[in-house]
Amino acid sequence: MGKKYWRCTVCNDVHFGVEPPKVCPTCKQVNVYVEITMEEAVKLLQA
Ligand SMILES: [Zn+2]
Repeated sequence: MGKKYWRCTVCNDVHFGVEPPKVCPTCKQVNVYVEITMEEAVKLLQA
């Protein structure tokens, strides 16, 4: 599969995909995503 979880370092938006979005759809910042673990993603999505 190769899909990973990514987190926007500005607004904590979580994205699941092969690559992070170039532009965050929530805060409109560019190149702000970092890879996170599935556990981190679950925590963020539940918050
Ligand atoms: Zn963002």
